[in-house]
Amino acid sequence: MTGATANLDNQTNVTKKTEKRKQKLSFDTLGLDPDLLATVAKAGYEKPTPVQAGLIPLALEGFDLIGQARTGTGKTAAFVLPILQLLESETDVNGPQALVLVPTRELAVQVQTEFEKLRGDLPFRCAAIYGGHSLRTQMIQLKQGLDVIVGTPGRILDHLKRGTLNPSSVTWLVLDEADRMLDIGFRPDIERILRQCPKERQTLLLSATLPAPILQIAKQYMYRPKLINFSTKSLASETIEQFYFSVAEQQKYDLLLKLLQRENPHQAIVFCRTKMGTQRLFRKLERDFDSSSVATIHGDMLQNQRDRTMKNFREGGTKILVATDVVGRGIDVSDISHIINFDIPQLSDDYVHRVGRTGRMGRQGIAFTLVTPVERNLLEGIEKRIGKPLIRVEIEGIESIDWLTSPGRRRYRRAL
Ligand code: AMP
Repeated sequence: MTGATANLDNQTNVTKKTEKRKQKLSFDTLGLDPDLLATVAKAGYEKPTPVQAGLIPLALEGFDLIGQARTGTGKTAAFVLPILQLLESETDVNGPQALVLVPTRELAVQVQTEFEKLRGDLPFRCAAIYGGHSLRTQMIQLKQGLDVIVGTPGRILDHLKRGTLNPSSVTWLVLDEADRMLDIGFRPDIERILRQCPKERQTLLLSATLPAPILQIAKQYMYRPKLINFSTKSLASETIEQFYFSVAEQQKYDLLLKLLQRENPHQAIVFCRTKMGTQRLFRKLERDFDSSSVATIHGDMLQNQRDRTMKNFREGGTKILVATDVVGRGIDVSDISHIINFDIPQLSDDYVHRVGRTGRMGRQGIAFTLVTPVERNLLEGIEKRIGKPLIRVEIEGIESIDWLTSPGRRRYRRAL
């Protein structure tokens, strides 16, 4: 498992095989140890998801893997379980055996929680190491010894530079949501970290999309990786209904209010483009909607505020969460019923990730995107990306701007 050369020729598309075997599959057939099967059952996971059925056996066999899968597919347990199985419980080295890099602090906490949930009584120590929390506390944790570290690239690199994290014992390296890490600009940090980890290791890369830079990283830092594609033809899940409004910029807020009143979401994330815009919209909604059930999360908030917000949202106290892409993307809350793109995303991959926050694990979800006339090309990019048109809807009292006249485009209108 040296990381010097890479070969993408032996890509395996196991999607079809996995689909066929899905019905028959149970966790017992994946090669997992009995103690892990017990924790899986305790977690309430009855059947492996396709991603788990595809990844776990190959990971246990020692292959470097690229899994093309979005969040909400059970991808975390797909790498957590083989890592837990193959960690050495008796080791002289006090350094970490597994390093999982993730794009956001929230995702770091979620992945660590999954490790804790599936660890059961196994004596492994796992921590989330990310920016915004005390370096000193993390240094103490690292000194005391950790088997698994889940961290954001910036903070991990910081510890490597300070010498407070020794990567020489890392045998598992996971790049989770690799495309997102690259979007955020973590590529140089990731490469610096990869270069410092031992070449004798197993590397797993999970990503919803596989743009060229991801494949370059795979080529350079993975050993003959197998590519396993779990992306469905239409990237946004089948269980998500996807609509858009054509609206003038100055009417967006009124439309949002009407939409929230009308839909009365069980739980919703409202996405904005900028941190400032997010904060502004949150203040308005707090005033006009229901201050007790609205919250916001963005990169300008202190980490403990962000942690508190996520806890409230996860516990259901918060109904409407106004968020930016960076932090909103990793949110794994299974009850999210609505995604509202108050600002249409600039990148169609971001749309896929935003909408993927709902409809998780086969649940029903609904997504609305507000589109102004100057943003029609962004809408078209999204439709191309997901391979289907969004359905145009209108809401009473808000003028619908008629600008979609491109020939050959099938348009749907429906009054809400
Ligand atoms: P992920 O895609 O890793 O973010 O997982 C999405 C959610 O699915 C998490 O809340 C997991 O706890 C849950 N989950 C993972 N695997 C299974 C499974 N086999 N059965 C039911 N739920 C699962």
